[in-house]
Order: sequence, then C-alpha cells, then structure tokens
Amino acid sequence: MVKIGVLALQGDVREHLAALAHSGAEAVPVRREAELAAVDGLVIPGGESTTIDKLTRIFDLAEPLKARISAGLPVYGSCAGMIMLANEIADPATDRQGNPQQTLGGLDITVRRNAFGRQRESFETDLAFRGLEFSAAVPGAEPEPVHAVFIRAPWVERVGDGVEVLAQVQPEEASHTETLHGTARIVAVRSRNLLATSFHPEVTGERRIHELFIRIVRGEA
Ligand code: GLN
Repeated sequence: MVKIGVLALQGDVREHLAALAHSGAEAVPVRREAELAAVDGLVIPGGESTTIDKLTRIFDLAEPLKARISAGLPVYGSCAGMIMLANEIADPATDRQGNPQQTLGGLDITVRRNAFGRQRESFETDLAFRGLEFSAAVPGAEPEPVHAVFIRAPWVERVGDGVEVLAQVQPEEASHTETLHGTARIVAVRSRNLLATSFHPEVTGERRIHELFIRIVRGEA
C-alpha cells in the first residue's frame, strides 16, 4: 500500500487523511522532516496559505519540501495547497515587515488568491474533470461530474508549458457571473507528479480526486 502524508501544520488535515484512507492509501500526518522522508506522496490541505507558508519555515520544512518536490515527489495541493505549489502568486499577501508570502513552487502556474470575489467567496458547482475516466461506470463512458466546493478559492491565471488543465468553472454555470466577466476560469491542473485543485473534494465525500492522486503516486496515471 502506498504511504501518503498530509502536511499537518494548519488546515483541513483530518478530512484529507480520511479521504486518503477511504481511497486505499496508508495516510499519515507530516510535521517533521523525518516524517516527510518516509512518504511516497504528500497532500497539502486547504487552509490559509500565509499561515502554512510561515509554519513550513518555522518547522524547518520549507527547504526539505522544495527538495523533495524537485526530486519528483507526487504532491496534491487543494486550495491553499494549490497556492503553496504555484511558482507565482498574482497578489501575494505581505507581512508587517513588507515581505511577500512565499510558496514552495514546482508547478508552473500563476494563481490569484480569493479570486472569485466577495459574493462568491464560497460557492458550489458541478465540474467536468479530465483524468477521471478510470471511474466511469461503463468503460468508455463519460465520468460523472465532480461536485466542487469553493471556499475563498484561488483560480489559475496562467499555466506554463507542460501544465494540463483538468477543470474550469464556466461562467454560465455559476450562480453569480460578475467576477468571471464571461471568462472560464481554471480550477484544476496537473503537471507530471503535481496535482492541484482550487476546490475541496475532501469535504463532499468525493473520492475520485484522491483516487487519481493515489494512481499518480503508484505511477499508474
Ligand atoms: N484564501 C486562502 C488562502 O489564500 C485559501 C482558502 C482555502 O484553502 N480554503 O490561503
């Protein structure tokens, strides 16, 4: 069985541990370098990216995380976790000394934090999601859409070469359209071993995103 860690500094760690365990992985919290060294893959949960950023540095995990990511560790980032994996933040927060928040990077994307605006801070919608063909009821059939919950979510404003877009929010599907200005927005991406979603599959009972990630860890997807 693959052993997958959940970065357990802040955020919805328990929900990801449960989703991974349900989906066929051994799931363990990761707070120390030795724990990081022992996992085959890692989930960075949703929460607050500025806090997760500070805590990774306080816990001396930022450098070991960057090293393992560049060595090919499979990582799935959800919401704040997506921000932590992004090479660039369009609108980084700054601390009292004026230092911008940092990311671990690895995924060649630019994210915008809290992008969906005030009225849409939290919303739910159904998304067509590429890469879930393994879950189709009948081989070759379209997989069911993913019911996605967004909580002060980022979107992806730029994808680099080699980054595959897995899902987008279409303006006509959303309950409020003003912040989308008629533009579809990217909310799920993959680049080799790195997977990221703006939304939170761990809170809805959706298991297929975690199953996809486990397949990536196993080298099957
Ligand atoms: N807005 C948060 C951030 O910037 C992310 C919210 C979430 O993870 N649900 O970190």
